[in-house]
Amino acid sequence: MADTTLMDKLVSLCKRRGFVFQSSEIYGGLGSVWDYGPLGVELKKNVKDRWWQAMVHARDDIEGIDAAILMHPRVWEASGHVAGFTDPLVDCRHCKNRFRADDPRIKGTPGQPDAQCPVCGSKGTLTEPRLFNLMFKTFMGPVEEQAAVVYLRPETAQGIYVNYLNVLQSSRQRIPFGIAQIGKAFRNEITPGNFIFRTREFEQMEMQFFVKPGTDAEWFERWREWRMQWHRDLGLAPARLQWHQHGPDELAHYARAAFDIQYQFPFGWQEIEGIHNRGDFDLGRHQEYSGKKLEYFDQAANERYLPFIVETSAGADRVALTLLVDAYREEQVEGETRVVLGLHPAVAPIKAGVFPLVKKDGMPELATALYHDLKRRFPAFYDDSGAIGRRYRRMDEAGTPFGITVDGETAAQRTVTVRHRDSMQQDRVGVDQVADYVAERIAGN
Ligand code: ATP
Repeated sequence: MADTTLMDKLVSLCKRRGFVFQSSEIYGGLGSVWDYGPLGVELKKNVKDRWWQAMVHARDDIEGIDAAILMHPRVWEASGHVAGFTDPLVDCRHCKNRFRADDPRIKGTPGQPDAQCPVCGSKGTLTEPRLFNLMFKTFMGPVEEQAAVVYLRPETAQGIYVNYLNVLQSSRQRIPFGIAQIGKAFRNEITPGNFIFRTREFEQMEMQFFVKPGTDAEWFERWREWRMQWHRDLGLAPARLQWHQHGPDELAHYARAAFDIQYQFPFGWQEIEGIHNRGDFDLGRHQEYSGKKLEYFDQAANERYLPFIVETSAGADRVALTLLVDAYREEQVEGETRVVLGLHPAVAPIKAGVFPLVKKDGMPELATALYHDLKRRFPAFYDDSGAIGRRYRRMDEAGTPFGITVDGETAAQRTVTVRHRDSMQQDRVGVDQVADYVAERIAGN
């Protein structure tokens, strides 16, 4: 399958089955903003729940928070976002690359016909220099003036840094410990695209781990290992995951070391999560800008220091896209194309489809009762319309791992068939056991 067609097919399946819709579609859509439909919201929620489970509930040394999207504007001065994104920039209308206006590689004057793009070599395609900030601005209160400017956060991390002492004191944690958060972030991306890969509104799953200076390198290695394993446990093909180490020219000003976990998308190897050793940059800056001491006092050692931070930062939408890309496949079955989303049962939006084989002989009644029973334990879907083969296919496309059919033997023998999405094999299982049967397979890694 050609890679571009794979993305086209996926976008179309996502719309058809209710995973992802274009935002405000009836008005022609809004650029690089997407809405999650009934199946998509479940998929993304499962991603976030798994992250929260692994990062917060399963550990003693990480606390969760949910900070507000709007923050004091000084936060973004301290973080470097206000200054860092307001350089004059020029864009190439042809290759969509963006450069600083003073980039020495640009020949001619940007905005004029003689200017040449240093990447694609096109002439006359460079825009006039423009001041550009990636942050979305809005106003707080009734007056739209400079003093009232606030920003939609471009990352969730800052909400963690400014709450570090609150969490430390209220939770009685000691260093080393971490704070985790899932939430929306907004970036006025200039070259967005590739469906939900790069959007202007997205969700981050970030964790900041506070450590004693000098122990940061070993914590960094541990976190690299744990985070890669988490992605593998989602069922992603291991060969499509790799590390990318930031070289000196890529490294952000605050980072002492940075590695990205990349996935091999149809449009190339791309970052899905970053693991960064940020040193004491963040707490140092907030200490300076707020005038509040953010040091940690280690009672046992009678030492005072500013903790170093190891950050793990993943995008929930990117992970959801990774799962969809990884899961999509087409197979030829009895002369027909079968489209399957081979999602891991733990992240599949619907866990089981329930079908009466025919709409008579008491089968719908038995199937409905079973369906209501299952729905108390996990998301299930009832379908009695069309041939059974078509009903299975619809569930294959939605990524539903189990199809449960009530047939002519169910009433007398108290058994149903359980059809497995991937192998299409069928097992006969007791009506009273089928909920446990499915639940065990959802939980099993
Ligand atoms: P990129 O280089 O792709 O722009 P980044 O290095 O700016 O990403 P970070 O600031 O490290 O990304 O953000 C951490 C994570 O947040 C990324 O790994 C990604 O999963 C997610 N993310 C960042 N920007 C976007 C976006 N515009 N749309 C969707 N997810 C995003």
